[in-house]
Amino acid sequence: TAVVDRLRTDRPVFSVEFFPPRDDASERQLWRAVRELEPLDPAFVSITYGAGGSSRDRTIRTTGRIAQETTLVPMAHLTGVNHSLAELRNVVGWYAAVGVHNVLAVRGDPPGDPLGEWVAHPEGITYASELVRLVRSLGPFCVGVAAFPYGHPRSGDLDTDTDHLVGKIRAGADFAIAQLFFEADDFLRLRDRLASRGCDAPLLPGVMPLTTVRTLDKTVELSGAGVPPSLERRLAPHRDDPKAFRAAGIDVVTELSERLLAEGVRGLHFYTLNRSTATREVIGRLGLAPTRV
Ligand code: FAD
Repeated sequence: TAVVDRLRTDRPVFSVEFFPPRDDASERQLWRAVRELEPLDPAFVSITYGAGGSSRDRTIRTTGRIAQETTLVPMAHLTGVNHSLAELRNVVGWYAAVGVHNVLAVRGDPPGDPLGEWVAHPEGITYASELVRLVRSLGPFCVGVAAFPYGHPRSGDLDTDTDHLVGKIRAGADFAIAQLFFEADDFLRLRDRLASRGCDAPLLPGVMPLTTVRTLDKTVELSGAGVPPSLERRLAPHRDDPKAFRAAGIDVVTELSERLLAEGVRGLHFYTLNRSTATREVIGRLGLAPTRV
């Protein structure tokens, strides 16, 4: 099933993101989360692509197992980091062989220094748009790309960054997933910039349940934005009280999600950190879970 078909429903959906497990214990934790989320019928589940060989193998193995052993629709991330075109073709071939037909094509970051200068593999890609074209040329894949509400950290200005995003979609991507952000308007402005360029491909917001101070710090790191004062006021008083922080964080993320749904987003993409409880809580509160469960 193509992810983009799962987004063409009359009610909004949710999807979840995992990372490849590092060891046996984290593999068990991931599979517990997969099994707990499966009955809630996420539109798709995605597995990120790591920097090194063994983590990459685990992405392929995990997405393959999800395709073969669950009712879920898997999407594998793929990056161009340290890969020749021949290797990229090989990985895409593996995805197809294990039943994975959805790929999130991202360029990736220089290993060790995410904000450092990008160094292309001599026989590899320079921009994600080239990866989109490559994956599309290799079979009937549904392809997604990354979007950045505050602009990509290496981009000079938002307009140029949006032009590059439109370029990736015109290169053949079916949809985009936005990096984490703090306020609904930040996401909606990106959606408006795309619309003003005549681009109506589905754009899914990335959402991370703010269960701990660490998840808040992670959101700052990934989004590239500081915590807005309104949010700081709600969360800061609870920094030393994990239970109260979690309760306030789940409220904040539920309210953000409600606003996004009211603004007509087709789905919410949850960064789960390989756990299911907080995501299940939020989607339950939003009424996104199937009623039969
Ligand atoms: P690109 O689209 O290639 O953009 C990179 C930079 O080049 C940007 O500044 C862009 O504006 C600019 N640019 C693009 N096209 C052009 C052009 N034609 N000319 C000039 N400049 C151009 N990383 C991982 O390692 N593994 C993952 O699994 C992973 N999953 C992700 C999932 C999501 C939803 C998101 C939002 C990010 C993910 N990332 C992942 C991080 C991503 O790899 C980095 O953010 C990376 O720095 C940018 O990737 P990109 O695909 O947006 O690159």
